[in-house]
Amino acid sequence: MAKKNFNCIACGKNFLSKNEIGINKKLLNLAAKDFYCLDCLANFLEVTPQDILDKIEDFKNDGCKLFE
Ligand SMILES: [Zn+2]
Repeated sequence: MAKKNFNCIACGKNFLSKNEIGINKKLLNLAAKDFYCLDCLANFLEVTPQDILDKIEDFKNDGCKLFE
């Protein structure tokens, strides 16, 4: 099965990672179809990229299946 390709809607970055998609779903909208890359998501939420990475780690530690 072909891997679905998601682009960042802000900067157009290709092939967003599973973690990037997952954090968009968690922080913005579970049903979202438009996604931001890590940098643009941080910019949008007015936090640092490291804050986003920390969040991803938190969700992973909770066993969330949206992350790898
Ligand atoms: Zn972007």
